[in-house]
Formats: sequence, structure tokens, C-alpha cells
Amino acid sequence: MKRQAANKSALLVSSKDLSPISVALTGKTLAELRRAAADCKACDLWKTGTQTVFGEGASKARIMFVGEQPGDQEDRAGQPFVGPAGKILHKAMEEAGIDDTEVYLTNVVKHFKWSPAERGKRRIHKKPRYSEIHACRPWLDAELRVVQPQVLVCLGATAAQSLLGRDFSVSRQRGQLIKSPLAPAVTATVHPSSILRAPDGESRRAQMRALVDDLKKVAQFATKRAA
Ligand code: SF4
Repeated sequence: MKRQAANKSALLVSSKDLSPISVALTGKTLAELRRAAADCKACDLWKTGTQTVFGEGASKARIMFVGEQPGDQEDRAGQPFVGPAGKILHKAMEEAGIDDTEVYLTNVVKHFKWSPAERGKRRIHKKPRYSEIHACRPWLDAELRVVQPQVLVCLGATAAQSLLGRDFSVSRQRGQLIKSPLAPAVTATVHPSSILRAPDGESRRAQMRALVDDLKKVAQFATKRAA
């Protein structure tokens, strides 16, 4: 009888009854986490973003890429890295020999933060505040707990400083493979959107080569760990 009562109460408390952030602490699958994150209101960004843009990719990916936040196109599509910066990242992965099917893509903040352009209808990206990154961290920790990547790649300063410390400098320390409780190796490189802002074709090509070189190190490490 006692066991029946316990089973009954366990059934009554399903993950649907828990607040979204509680599911981040307990959720066991990406599908469960994604469903709960869709209702997250742990910071004010849910008011301006169209939807939560949760991570996507292989559930046991060897490599996890973490950017800052979804952009305009990602916000509309509900998927990470589908805009112009995402295209650059996918091209760099291909050149570095990283298969799309082996990776998981996400961001430290899962809603698009923006302000309206002075003229026209464009939505201008705004950097998330520390409090917003902190509020969203349980989702990233949950993704790391479920996926357990061999390498975690921070794209840009926001992701790098949030995961490797505020003093981390992407320009000085990019490409270094650092041991961490987050993954056997954590590394940082530029955010692919910075390549879009390169002043001319020559510097764009040079920046792309440097990104590919960083990703080649990631590919080598992931292959070695799998051997
Ligand atoms: S940005 Fe993160 S913490 Fe804030 S509402 Fe969206 S999912 Fe929740």
C-alpha cells in the first residue's frame, strides 16, 4: 500500500508541474529541457525575444559550440546559428573537418536581446547583461550535463568570459585547450559574426583562416579522445 501511495504521488508531481528552471536542474533529455525552456521567464528577455532559441544538435555530440545569444534570424526561426554568422561557422567547420552531425550548437543566453534601429524596422543586437547570462546559465549547464561533450568551444568574448572567467582574453588566448570541470577541454575562438564585420576581403579571409586553424585543433583533440 505504502509503495502504491508513493508511486501515485510521484505521478502527481510530473515535470510539467515544476517551474521551467527546476526542469533545467533535473531534466534528463534535450527534448524535456527544450520543452521547459520554451516557457522560461527567469529574466526579462522573454518579453522582447520571439521565442526561446534552445540548443540543437547531436544528443551525444563530441563538440559543443557556445555563442552569445541568438540573432535576428535565429529568433524568428527558433534555431541557433541559422543566420549569416551560422553560415560562416558551418563553412569553417567543414574546412576544419568537423562534421555537422557531430556537434551541438547553443548560446549562453537563449533569447534575442535587441533594440529598434533609429530608422527602419531593423532590430539591432544588444549585448546581454551579466544578470541575464547568470539567469540563463542553468540551461547551458543542463545541456552540458546531458550532452557531455569532449570539447566545449566558446565563440566570442561573452561566451568565453562567462565560461572561462572575466579576465579571459579571446585575442590573447584563443585556440588554447584548457582543462575544465565543464568538459575535458574548453577553448575559445572568435564569434563568426566578427568575420562578417571585417573591413575588407583580405582581412575577412585571414580571419577565416585563423578560425579554421582554431577549429582544426578542436577536431584533432576530439578525434584523439574518441580513439
Ligand atoms: S534568456 Fe534565458 S533565462 Fe532569460 S527568459 Fe530566456 S531562457 Fe529564460
